[in-house]
Amino acid sequence: MATAVSPKTYRNFINGEWVEPKNGKTTENRNPANQDELIGLFAAGDERDVVAAVEAASQAYRSWRRVPAPKRAEILFRAAQLLVARKEELSRDMTREMGKVLAETKGDVQEAIDMTYYMAGEGRRQFGQTTPSELQNKFAMTVREPVGVCGLITPWNFPMAIPSWKMMPALALGNTVVIKPATDTPLSVCHLVEVLTEAGLPPGVVNIVMGHGGAVGTPLLKHESVKVVSFTGSTEVGRKVSEGCAPQFKHCHLEMGGKNIILVMDDANLDLAVDGAVWGGFGTTGQRCTATSRIGVHKKVYKEFVERFVARVKALRVGDGLDPAMEVGPLVNQSQLETVMSYVEIGKSEGAKLAAGGHRLDQGGHAKGWFHEPTIFADCDPKMRICQEEIFGPVVSVMPIEGYEQAIEVANGVVYGLSSSIYTRDLNRAFHAMRELDTGIVYVNAPTIGAETHLPFGGIKQTGNGHREAAVAGLDVFSEWKTIYVDYSDRLQRAQIDTGSFGRME
Ligand code: NAD
Repeated sequence: MATAVSPKTYRNFINGEWVEPKNGKTTENRNPANQDELIGLFAAGDERDVVAAVEAASQAYRSWRRVPAPKRAEILFRAAQLLVARKEELSRDMTREMGKVLAETKGDVQEAIDMTYYMAGEGRRQFGQTTPSELQNKFAMTVREPVGVCGLITPWNFPMAIPSWKMMPALALGNTVVIKPATDTPLSVCHLVEVLTEAGLPPGVVNIVMGHGGAVGTPLLKHESVKVVSFTGSTEVGRKVSEGCAPQFKHCHLEMGGKNIILVMDDANLDLAVDGAVWGGFGTTGQRCTATSRIGVHKKVYKEFVERFVARVKALRVGDGLDPAMEVGPLVNQSQLETVMSYVEIGKSEGAKLAAGGHRLDQGGHAKGWFHEPTIFADCDPKMRICQEEIFGPVVSVMPIEGYEQAIEVANGVVYGLSSSIYTRDLNRAFHAMRELDTGIVYVNAPTIGAETHLPFGGIKQTGNGHREAAVAGLDVFSEWKTIYVDYSDRLQRAQIDTGSFGRME
């Protein structure tokens, strides 16, 4: 397997072959911690490549859907074993590709391993239901059926985990796939597909078309042979994806933005809450959909919490994610850095108190990368833009809160609904909050990040459109229920009409 140390050209993967994009174009991908390091040249395809990939996936679907699910799953199982064996090198390449520190890219690969093993297990567990019929000598059951070609569009912040969340259930169920990775992180998807191919996946079952959102993503989601579209990314693009899928009534699964909150109550274990706030706010440089972007702190412990939080954050070591001493890596690209810098200006102009950080880091070891200081705004008002809009970077806004009632109101007072957290030692209050918090995921005494693959993942409001990723719930996006009635009475039986005549058993 080629690694980022030896830059090379990565082509699209169509029908089991690495092929040149029809337009011959490539884009450069550089290390966000060191712009001098070229990771590789990656295909910058267009609609013609999408058409070829969807054609390959449609052909492959005819036979792949008939491979018994436990046999499909054996390929996934072997792929998971290969991922385990290559975890170290895959993680290092991912750090070079998108910047997060090595411990976290290992976590990303581990999540792909967990999901691949989990969905391999689903090969023998695609349970339907059997249930009594209301009529005699009639049998009723449900089975899951694959849907067809799935178009997967993924973001850059979890370069292998998110593609695996979509790909593994799709494949276990007998669908075929065309994936368009984020332009910043195609390498990890190439690695994932290389592993699946080595594990025995037949040609055409998974295809990669690399390129920009408009050039590849749009024709992919609009192609009439693509029956499922699964998208993770911003709410803005998700809306376009939803509109693009609507005319053909496709299965459309959207995982979008977040503005996640930690609530710290007056009875919280403050040491634990500060630990959670540092990890939730600055893990992955704040570039997680579940990142802790707001913290609401009870006024009785506000001053103490802010002092401790600021001291911890000022001590965070920012630098190249491959250096084991570093705790926070760079932003993924220049535009993400500029977004962060613009929100710092917005926060200042809104009157929030800059309590830590606030500047780009561009000297010495930071000179060649997209680094920014971990930043805290204190004394924020919940209506400020920095408390309402997704920033997707190392910026956390802290708000003083009068009490529990206001905490819930502030938590729910945003358009997003992905993840929330409450730190309290009061059991009654914790259960109350679990019910009242308007998010798809709620944590008690833990930060807003840390999803596990065997539990459903997703959000409500403008974060999601009613589906879930991962766990058994994740199978629903990639399958249709078929309901089957078998009448062995040898006579016409009419449901809802022929009732009450069951005197004689035959
Ligand atoms: P993005 O929306 O810019 O891009 C996501 C993907 O969509 C990329 O592959 C991109 O190339 C593609 N795309 C862009 N325009 C398109 C178009 N017109 N048609 C089709 N495809 C198009 O998001 P991003 O910057 O890559 O990722 C960050 C965003 O993702 C944040 O908003 C974050 O909250 C969100 N995210 C959500 C989750 C979740 O599970 N809810 C997880 C991770 C990231």
